Amino acid sequence: MAKKYYELPPLPYTYEALEPYISREQLRIHYEIHHKGYVNGANNILKMLDDARAEGKPVDVKAVLKALSFNIGGHILHSIFWANMAPPGKGGGTPGGLIGDRIVENFGSFERFKQEFTEAALSVEGSGWAALTYCRGTDRLIIMQVEKHNMNVYPAFQILMVVDVFEHAYYIDYKNDRKKYLENWWNLVNWGEVENRLSKVIQR
Ligand code: MN
Repeated sequence: MAKKYYELPPLPYTYEALEPYISREQLRIHYEIHHKGYVNGANNILKMLDDARAEGKPVDVKAVLKALSFNIGGHILHSIFWANMAPPGKGGGTPGGLIGDRIVENFGSFERFKQEFTEAALSVEGSGWAALTYCRGTDRLIIMQVEKHNMNVYPAFQILMVVDVFEHAYYIDYKNDRKKYLENWWNLVNWGEVENRLSKVIQR
């Protein structure tokens, strides 16, 4: 039977594994405090809804759904984010495979893709994410910006890779220097995972 509540997934590596680009303390707090906070936040809202429904009590549906989407979006995006990073040496570099081919086909070159994706992440207003997605309708890779966890989203697009640009993702290591964080983040991209996610949805 499916679980009724969300669970914090285990990190696919140790807290030190992404050093020197993301420190132990930065990763620990991000995972233990922030990601866990979204999981707990979503579950608390779901429990509150279950109770209110059982007792026939009213809820502020609009406010509840906004908070629920913020927390569920945060949980899902962080789960993808941990998986699309790998320790230096295993991650980074220029991708081959289907994802490498498709990036060149759709963006002209890997360098051009990297530039556009970095610019997307840099220019997110306030807190949010940049995501590489796949659109089945046009058979294209399309970059998406996410404001907070739930705005500007193309609903049916398959997310292939994300980068977290909430300040909580980099402030301990980079203070407010999002650009420096992003430059270093490219050394951690787990292209094998991005390839797996693309191969599950791409039209052949
Ligand atoms: Mn985060």
